[in-house]
Amino acid sequence: MPEEVTIQRAASALRTALGGKAMTRFDSPRLVGPVPQAGRTVEHVESHGRHLEIEWDNGMILHTHLRRGGSWHVYRQGENWRRPYDQMRVSIENDNWVAVCFNAHDVETYRRPDKRRHPGSGRLGPDLTASDADLGLVVNLLLSYEDATARVSEVLLDQRVMVGIGNVYRCEVLWVTGLSPFAPVGELTEPDAVRIVNTAASLVRAQLHRGGAGSHEGRRLAVYGRNGQKCPRCPGSIDGARTGQPRRMLYWCPSCQSHLDPRVLADPDDTPVMDPHPAAQRFLADLPWNRHPA
Ligand SMILES: [Zn+2]
Repeated sequence: MPEEVTIQRAASALRTALGGKAMTRFDSPRLVGPVPQAGRTVEHVESHGRHLEIEWDNGMILHTHLRRGGSWHVYRQGENWRRPYDQMRVSIENDNWVAVCFNAHDVETYRRPDKRRHPGSGRLGPDLTASDADLGLVVNLLLSYEDATARVSEVLLDQRVMVGIGNVYRCEVLWVTGLSPFAPVGELTEPDAVRIVNTAASLVRAQLHRGGAGSHEGRRLAVYGRNGQKCPRCPGSIDGARTGQPRRMLYWCPSCQSHLDPRVLADPDDTPVMDPHPAAQRFLADLPWNRHPA
């Protein structure tokens, strides 16, 4: 169906313009559902027939149904739109691009059902973005996690353990700490857990300092969205895969994120490396939060 091909092309253009980048502005006059927040990263764009979905790194999804006359356009910042403003149903901006949806029939947002994101029972863990968050409690929640075989990369997204990290920073935290994303949470030592939590709190607060400026693109991210590119601290290259339930993009360096790698754990002679790596130290030192202490 020609319309469906057009929508697939639009999804591909949106992926290029928005994917892996922090959103600086969101506008949707007739939106049904929660408003996506500036500063969040667009993680995924998909089309199914006449439906187009955009997913952010906190699990928020925008769904647009493009019946006759509905379309998505991508413009450079400052470029004139080819349709009038009053036909705009959604606009999503980042530093360079504006993606605009015109005349969509339905525009709604929702969060993918996930019991860990919506704990029906049990309370949310501490919010890492809060300056008075109880980080010691997060350490204890990690060390006493109910399922000792759960992968650490999944546990970092469990909102019963901690809130505020999102998919971008779970990948970055694991890289900075040199941990394998597939490490079973039950194998973490207390120093491992302390380092994870301190790193996570540093990264999310640094992001908060930058606000919705959209500046966590490219240069400061070590692994997120860098599938196939060279690792900043070793000769290896970054891998990317959709993992977990619901499936989320995970990025990591299989060469240097070896600590507690299940493949390595099978070999008792292999000494895990958890020392602060110079490149990881530089990465942390380069964060504005560390460069300009308050
Ligand atoms: Zn590496």
